[in-house]
Amino acid sequence: MEHFKHLPEPFRIRVIEPVARTTRAYREQAIVQAGLNPFLLDSRDVFIDLLTDSGTGAVTQDMQAAMLRGDEAYSGSRSYYALADTVKEIFGYAYTIPTHQGRGAEQIYIPVLIRKREREKGLDRSKMVVFSNYFFDTTQGHSQLNGAAVCNVHTQAAFDTGVKHDFKGNFDLDKLEQGIVQAGAQNVPYIVCTITCNSAGGQPVSLANLRAVYAVAQKYDIPVVMDSARFAENAYFIRQREAECRDWSIEKITYECYRHADILAMSAKKDAMVPMGGLLCFKDETVADVYQDCRTLCVAQEGFPTYGGLEGGAMERLAVGLRDGMREDWLAYRINQVEYLVNGLEAAGVVCQQPGGHAAFVDAGKLLPHIPPGQFPAQALACALYREAGIRAVEIGSLLLGRNPKTGGQLPCPAELLRLTVPRATYTQTHMDFIIEAFARVRERAADIKGLAFTYEPPVLRHFTARFREAV
Ligand SMILES: *Cc1c(COP(=O)(O)O)cnc(C)c1O
Repeated sequence: MEHFKHLPEPFRIRVIEPVARTTRAYREQAIVQAGLNPFLLDSRDVFIDLLTDSGTGAVTQDMQAAMLRGDEAYSGSRSYYALADTVKEIFGYAYTIPTHQGRGAEQIYIPVLIRKREREKGLDRSKMVVFSNYFFDTTQGHSQLNGAAVCNVHTQAAFDTGVKHDFKGNFDLDKLEQGIVQAGAQNVPYIVCTITCNSAGGQPVSLANLRAVYAVAQKYDIPVVMDSARFAENAYFIRQREAECRDWSIEKITYECYRHADILAMSAKKDAMVPMGGLLCFKDETVADVYQDCRTLCVAQEGFPTYGGLEGGAMERLAVGLRDGMREDWLAYRINQVEYLVNGLEAAGVVCQQPGGHAAFVDAGKLLPHIPPGQFPAQALACALYREAGIRAVEIGSLLLGRNPKTGGQLPCPAELLRLTVPRATYTQTHMDFIIEAFARVRERAADIKGLAFTYEPPVLRHFTARFREAV
């Protein structure tokens, strides 16, 4: 079928979740009641929900069927071995701990790696720094809760929606090495490679960059953690864009990527397609001591290490989801769907970050130049989009970034983006066309959209529960 211009969805839909259509008057009332914050809307009031792709996608037949095989034994469950064997085959990692979701893994490995560095290298906690191409917000949160300063060493091009680059998720290798030298390697307990780079718009990291980061880490004897939520999308982009890998399978690329890290932490709610689940895995004997310490902490935080945060059926489902999520026709469809959405928005005059893996990122700063960053243009745009069409999207800009804890001033944000996150196999091309049309309508009246001011600003993680009024 390769000669067809447009290939349709590579699946049949067999289970239906009804959604209600609402009137503009109803939505107007709903968004005001939600304090002009889409996070506070009820799901039943949302027509197309693009808040996140985390745990919101469809599951496959084989995943559903696998649930029934669950062995719910408290220890040594058969389902645990099904999962651990799958991890070994896909990633080549010898030791596995299941967790309830990604942050379940983070709350275990982060304190363990810090204590190990303290014990073995004399880490000074007051000088502790950790590096990433870009920390996901919970990874940043757990690092900071454990006393580390976080440093994102992304490339200059990463957040510039005017610049196209194959691997906008890459580390700036010079900044990484300079940062390590400046901090003193003993004060760097870990480096996190986030694939794909969520914060820059689902942008991939190249295999060459992963190799180079690992070489730097080995030089300074620092463990590398692969933050793996979208490992399959990243492998797909590598196959498309990195000459060396053009003829490789997704499986081969994935295996090769993970040779260049020591620890795998995963939110399995993304590419592994489960509604809830996570993984914490260790490559080989060189990190067997970390595995041992993590198992101990796991008992207290998540559960006995052969189930961690998951029931037996959920471990079976995850084992299947890891494989189903790597299907190439499926990945091609998904990436093309996001690209279709971005191209449609651009054609309607809405500037976006170049298409990435899981979402379209609209440059709200460019669409609403009359709204200053301090009045949150992307949040104002989210409200306008909901009012227009019942679509829920999420602000990735100044509101999310927050204030400098020392000065209380708003942190300067590199871009004011609105993320339209596409759940897996949940919405069709007709939905994408509808979203594009909604944006075209919003854009016509862009000059009338007003900025926002807080009526309630929570002290931390403010974007989830803040309330607003229109600024005058
Ligand atoms: C989602 C995500 C996490 C956190 O995982 P949860 O399952 O939401 O707890 C961590 N890192 C990355 C890159 C993610 O995308």
